[in-house]
Amino acid sequence: SVRVRFCPSPTGNPHVGLVRTALFNWAFARHNGGTLVFRIEDTDAARDSEDSYNQLLDAMRWLGFDWDEGPEVGGPHEPYRQSQRMDVYADVAKKLQDAGHAYPCYCSTEELDARREAARAAGKPSGYDGHCRELTEDQVAVYKLEGRRPILRFRMPDTTLAFDDLVRGEVSFDPKDVPDYGIVRANGAPLYTLVNPVDDALMGITHVLRGEDLLSSTPRQIALYAALAEIGVGNGTTPRFGHLPYVMGEGNKKLSKRDPQASLNLYRERGFLPEGLLNYLALLGWSLAEDRDRFSMDELVAAFDIAKVNSNPARFDLKKAEAINAEHLRMLAPEEFVRRLVPYLQAPGLLPAEPTAAQLDLLAKVAPLTQERMVVLGEIVNMAGFLFVAPEDFAVDAEDAAKVLTADARPVLEASVKALEGLEDYTPEPIQAALREALVDGLGIKPKFAFTPLRVAVTGRRVSPPLFESMELLGKPETLRRLTAALE
Ligand code: GLU
Repeated sequence: SVRVRFCPSPTGNPHVGLVRTALFNWAFARHNGGTLVFRIEDTDAARDSEDSYNQLLDAMRWLGFDWDEGPEVGGPHEPYRQSQRMDVYADVAKKLQDAGHAYPCYCSTEELDARREAARAAGKPSGYDGHCRELTEDQVAVYKLEGRRPILRFRMPDTTLAFDDLVRGEVSFDPKDVPDYGIVRANGAPLYTLVNPVDDALMGITHVLRGEDLLSSTPRQIALYAALAEIGVGNGTTPRFGHLPYVMGEGNKKLSKRDPQASLNLYRERGFLPEGLLNYLALLGWSLAEDRDRFSMDELVAAFDIAKVNSNPARFDLKKAEAINAEHLRMLAPEEFVRRLVPYLQAPGLLPAEPTAAQLDLLAKVAPLTQERMVVLGEIVNMAGFLFVAPEDFAVDAEDAAKVLTADARPVLEASVKALEGLEDYTPEPIQAALREALVDGLGIKPKFAFTPLRVAVTGRRVSPPLFESMELLGKPETLRRLTAALE
């Protein structure tokens, strides 16, 4: 049965490339009724952090992914954090060395650099030259006397390494491009090059779906799998590989994880829905059907086929991501939409941790007026924040106010106060009728010019939910108070 893994290294903040990899692995596992293993590759103490680990778990939960084995859920191959599996790697490294698949390499960095330069100058392959492959006991004794501490290097076979990539088809590497490589540091710390295939073998991984940036490490890993099979580590099979296309950002450059546009937190903070963001990220290399950009996660799982992933680089298009998110926002049922808005009003303190029934009621009333106009949930702050501030804290956007609430606006505001004061039925239609009569008929002002100062005075913004509905929700006394305040 299918066993896939998502195995990030906890360095920095989660980024969109990582999320797409997680998504494709999750969808592949779920489509095939397989198992998703979540493994944490934290063997690089200098770069990994606990904060980043916590962020990863939090991100996976927020995105709505579930995993069958891994942190918090356990499983038959525990532990799933590589930092807790060091004895496993030490044992495998020793077995590889005993069987001759790996050898100690005493070359210093300076020596390696010098030889690489010389090879380059001579137009020869500049990878590791096999210097320590067949050292004599005497040479080893001399190196030891010199106080050198060796790294462990994997011995690559001298044959062409080919595999059938699930996305790219037949891929092959010339052995001269894939030299022997380090698997354990001089201080004994195992490297990614060792621990990643070792765990894939031990955990019975059948399919490896990962970014194209790792394509060049695949021939090395395939050789290592063969060696592991020989020494009896794992079940002896090599997984199938599928390399997901690069994601390009601004200026057609590879989207880097340091790119602000790549940060998952940014999308969360702005108020992307997880299903909206995942829908968009799925389109980076895959599509449900040519004329279907929007789909649910259930539809994605039902249709997901790794063979249909396109190997061409995909372009990250923020506008498209926003448009798709907006479509998902519109599809939310009213109560669900309200539920998702709450945290975005809590973050800036417009709603308390425990909103009152009256506050939630007000939000439920204004929400439908904003749902069609929003791209991300965070926009609720600008759009409806004016309803949730205490009157004494209400402040208009100074820039808009200065431009709109000029001396010309005075007569408009004055006439509006007068018109609304006498209004018995304070609901949108009578409000509109009274204001039209006072401003358009009475003062002869075009509606466009009449209502902008009112909107700014009442909501503090040029863009708000429909004006008369906003006034109703705000209530007559507070509307009048704000109009009068704008006159001062
Ligand atoms: N820990 C590796 C990374 O985050 C995983 C690579 C792989 O999927 O093999 O780059």
